Parts: sequence; C-alpha cells; structure tokens
Amino acid sequence: MPHTLKLQSIRPITHNVNELTFPRPDGYDCTPGQATELAIDRDGWRDEKRPFTFTSLPDADHLQFTIKSYPDHDGVTEQIGQFEGGETVLIEDPWGAIEDKGPGTFIAGGAGLTPFLSILRARQARDGTLDGYRLIFANSHEKDIILREELEGMPGLKLDLVLSKEKVDGLHHGQVDADFLDEAGLDFGDTFYLCGPPPMEEDVSTLLKLRGVTDDRLVREED
Ligand SMILES: Cc1cc2nc3c(=O)[nH]c(=O)nc-3n(C[C@H](O)[C@H](O)[C@H](O)COP(=O)(O)OP(=O)(O)OC[C@H]3O[C@@H](n4cnc5c(N)ncnc54)[C@H](O)[C@@H]3O)c2cc1C
Repeated sequence: MPHTLKLQSIRPITHNVNELTFPRPDGYDCTPGQATELAIDRDGWRDEKRPFTFTSLPDADHLQFTIKSYPDHDGVTEQIGQFEGGETVLIEDPWGAIEDKGPGTFIAGGAGLTPFLSILRARQARDGTLDGYRLIFANSHEKDIILREELEGMPGLKLDLVLSKEKVDGLHHGQVDADFLDEAGLDFGDTFYLCGPPPMEEDVSTLLKLRGVTDDRLVREED
C-alpha cells in the first residue's frame, strides 16, 4: 500500500533542483542511500511512478527528497518543479542497493549525488567527521552544483568538483575519464561508490574495473 504524504515545504537549491520535505509516516524506516517510487497524487499522474532517493537523516521526523526537474520531458519532475504548498504525493516502500560500506571514493554525476548526500550526512552526524571519505562530483556548469556550500563544509570530506562544460578557477575541467582517474591520486584498492547518468556510470565503472576495482568494492544501483 502506498503512503500518502502532504508537502510540508519546498526549497529551490539550484536553478533546477528543489528540496522537498514531507512528514514521515509512522513506522516508515529507510537507510541512507535508499530510494522509493514516488507518484504525484493527482488524476492522470498516480500511475507515473518515478524513483527518488531519501536525503533526510534516518532518524529525522521528516522525509526529504532532492529532485532535479527536466521541463523538456513533460513528465513528473517538471510537475514537481512547479509544486507549491499542500500538494500530496504517494510513495512506496524503500529499496535500493546503495549503502554506506565505510570510507571510500564516491563518484557522482548531477542528481546522482542524492544517495551519497544521505550517506555522508548520516556518517557526519554519527562520527562528526568524514575522514577517509572523498567525493568526486561532476556537473556540466558551476550553477548545476547541488548544495556546494554544505559539501564544502563537511568536516574531513575531500571534495573534487568537476565541470565538463565550463572552466572555473579552482575546479577541475573535463570529464571523469581515464586521465582524470589516473591523475587524481586514487587508491584503487579502496571502496568506490558510483551514481550518475547511465552513460557516465557505464564508462566510469569500466575504467574502475580496468584499474583493479572488484565488483564487491564497487557500490552502485544495479539495473
Ligand atoms: C534509484 C534511482 C534513484 C533516483 N533518485 C533521484 C533523486 O533523488 N533525485 C533526482 O533528481 N533524480 C533521481 N533519480 C532520477 C529520476 O528518477 C528521474 O529524473 C525521473 O524519473 C525523471 O522523471 P520524469 O517523469 O520527469 O521524466 P522521464 O520519465 O525521463 O520522461 C517523461 C517523458 O519524457 C520523455 N523523455 C525522456 N527523456 C527525454 C529527453 N532527454 N528529452 C525529452 N523528452 C524526454 C519520455 O519519453 C517520457 O515520455 C533517480 C533514479 C533512480 C533509478
């Protein structure tokens, strides 16, 4: 049975990403990195379920999602980007293979940050530091970087911001490709976490495997 959630607040965090907060239904437990299927509770939309990741802390009294809108898709995220107070959504049970397996290198593209956001937030809340955690976060342009200030302020987190379509002082320019991985000073004996657009995930996972990263040390959502 889906849970009906009434929107508590919506906050823009980039030009096309919003943070949505809902009250947590009683007994609804999810772990950092998990996602759920969400549909808009309106005629014509209830069967249009889309996966989104919880970005709230596991013990918070609310559920939060961080959702990038694609107005050119004429789909669910376009509608969500136009939400105002009082809207209701339907969510299913939580699921997902991405979980915190300890320190390692997290490689995210765009909205692929979301499972790592919840893992890093929860680990910071638990340990007070993210020593041993590194985040490589790839975007097209500087304006696309989600929650940059929060990420830069996470204690102990080593953060690399990579922009593919814009040169900005202090940020890497280019793709997360073979050259980037070879020059980033990575330990390929480490645990790697990967989440991003499917072509990026395919390319980066192939490159990591060629460098000796085994399946059991590569954490990602399988198809
Ligand atoms: C496990 C998982 C967790 C996720 N978590 C998050 C999250 O936390 N935050 C987040 O922002 N995203 C997340 N996503 C991605 C999110 O699910 C998609 O962005 C969302 O499903 C898009 O829904 P949509 O209805 O707007 O567009 P779509 O379902 O992509 O498309 C709707 C319509 O537009 C058409 N269309 C598709 N692509 C294009 C295109 N390029 N141009 C024009 N038309 C197109 C389709 O044919 C379809 O008819 C997650 C994905 C997965 C798999």
